[in-house]
Amino acid sequence: MDLFAKLHQTEHEQVVFCHNKDASLKAIIAIHNTTLGPALGGLRMWPYETEQDALDDVLRLSRGMTYKAAVAGLNLGGGKSVIIGDPRTDKTEALFRALGRFIESLHGRYITAEDVGIDVNDMEYVFRETSNVVGVHQVHGGSGDPSPFTAYGTMQGVRASLLKKFGNENVGKYSYAVQGCGHVGYELVKLMRAENAKVFVSDINEEAVQQCVELGCEAVGVDEIYDVDADVFSPTALGAIVNEDTLPRFKFKIICGAANNQLATEEICGEVEARGILYAPDYAVNAGGLMNVSIEFEGYNRERAMRMMRTIYYNVGKIFDIAERDGITSAQAADRVAEERITAIGKLKLPFMGRSHSFPGRDGAPK
Ligand code: NAD
Repeated sequence: MDLFAKLHQTEHEQVVFCHNKDASLKAIIAIHNTTLGPALGGLRMWPYETEQDALDDVLRLSRGMTYKAAVAGLNLGGGKSVIIGDPRTDKTEALFRALGRFIESLHGRYITAEDVGIDVNDMEYVFRETSNVVGVHQVHGGSGDPSPFTAYGTMQGVRASLLKKFGNENVGKYSYAVQGCGHVGYELVKLMRAENAKVFVSDINEEAVQQCVELGCEAVGVDEIYDVDADVFSPTALGAIVNEDTLPRFKFKIICGAANNQLATEEICGEVEARGILYAPDYAVNAGGLMNVSIEFEGYNRERAMRMMRTIYYNVGKIFDIAERDGITSAQAADRVAEERITAIGKLKLPFMGRSHSFPGRDGAPK
């Protein structure tokens, strides 16, 4: 593997391989870009088949965080970390504390949070070794579960999309197909139903579907969701669900949901738009959770968080306008907004060199 050639191509600043024999720790921290601020991104634990798979994943995800933070207007860069291991069998206090020490050694250049395979108890162990953790429990002054904020932010993206496509943003006037009724999906459906919208839902988990049916939604099969005659498709479960197989089935006018990496390929955005479907770029729409944790640096304040979420409406609208002005897809326009902001701010500032964060309002890490 030609590692530096790969890093040259992905433009990563730093990749840290973390090993501790006693704790059986094999982890990678990737810092993609710190021009705008410290690299923030979650910790994922996954039984990767190969070390190459783990490296590819952490490089891809950390780069994505740079773009998400940049479009969201945050003073944050992009990073991510992965532990190679099975979250069902390989978790120990020692494992997470060993990783916490590696994160601490980066002096705030990387800040971690929960991601796939990690729960709040694991984060408590990381937090014992470093304060460079966000999304910790509310008892420590953290912001708690980000899902309701992600859902609220997604609704801002929905409003901006309705305005662009239909010239008004009356949520209740339109119909929605929500794929996935999990943490974000359920909250999103609640917001849509609060405006009396017609909502179709699908989930592989029957209980999750039933909860939404009780809110007045109509359940459809896991595969049928792609054929529903609704105005807006809200993917809120899986990635890569806009692909060559599903797209020909769409009667939707808008795609706007919280799931990460909705487009199977970059090119498919052009095909989506050629069919007259407006695509709201996923990472601009689902930034609510990231915005919410970002406020922990200054002392968490829910009111301020909600105000920040509403900027998603303007961010998504701006992306649509740039796409139209420059004759590019909305996905390309989102990338352009991110890159232009990083370049402009980068001219003003030196790269972030690390500092300790004070987290006012938070008590110390439990020893
Ligand atoms: P979750 O695990 O709580 O919910 C996902 C739901 O999707 C589950 O109920 C699951 O049963 C369902 N699902 C799985 N496969 C499905 C299928 N084939 N068809 C229909 N439903 C299926 O996760 P979440 O936190 O609600 O996140 C949902 C999506 O939003 C993910 O893509 C996540 O990466 C993204 N996201 C979440 C946040 C957040 O704040 N939680 C922030 C940004 C992005």
